[in-house]
Amino acid sequence: MIEMIDVWKTYPNGVMALNGIDIHIDKGEFVYVVGSSGAGKSTFIKCMYRQEKPTKGNIIINGKSLTKVKERNIPYLRRQIGIVFQDFKLLPKLTVYENVAFALEVIEESPKVIRKQVMETLELVGLKNKARFLPDELSGGEQQRVSIARSIVNRPHVVIADEPTGNLDPETAWGIMEVFEEISNRGTTVVMATHNKEIVNTIKRRVIAIEGGRIVRDEKRGVYGYDETPDPLSTH
Ligand code: ADP
Repeated sequence: MIEMIDVWKTYPNGVMALNGIDIHIDKGEFVYVVGSSGAGKSTFIKCMYRQEKPTKGNIIINGKSLTKVKERNIPYLRRQIGIVFQDFKLLPKLTVYENVAFALEVIEESPKVIRKQVMETLELVGLKNKARFLPDELSGGEQQRVSIARSIVNRPHVVIADEPTGNLDPETAWGIMEVFEEISNRGTTVVMATHNKEIVNTIKRRVIAIEGGRIVRDEKRGVYGYDETPDPLSTH
């Protein structure tokens, strides 16, 4: 469960990126975060994994306050949240297996548990046969699958993704969405900022629209709703 209570974020340069956000996301929900460029989506997402600290307000994830946590405990808190970025952020000199295993090695899991969980996760994302490959030997879609595997290998309750299909062609993007659907079907909460109108309008889920740092729309089975913005991934 994710709760944001009256969250405000003003950057040091004076830009007011979030202006009083109240939101409640239940366990297992799948939520798209949409909005025009500069609306505050990334700031919203970054506050959710404590990359940015709100100027005011409280964020609670699975009963733990992200805003009250001590700096030194932030890494522990982040480990309970899987994070997927637009640009994958894989370690280039490590194999697929090692990139995914790394997330478990830092929490000192036993080699046996690591092997089992990494292989199970690679199977889930469809990359079991590429465990020994290096990131630059993979396509963009495959690299994103590795980064998703890394984000879920320690079985977090929440996966947060900031434009995960932003760098991918439409067909590959659909494949990535299937992986997120599977993760969601297993009961994991998924929060995804996206500009992908076709996906939002086809795989109908809750849509939270942000404009000017405020929530302007929150619909159970919503639509993208920005016809004026050309969709970079549209095939039409
Ligand atoms: P979106 O993800 O919807 O494009 P952002 O959250 O990135 O929006 O940005 C919201 C506003 O905050 C924009 O006006 C942006 O220029 C500003 N902003 C984002 N990050 C920073 C930062 N680190 N410092 C100052 N201003 C920022």
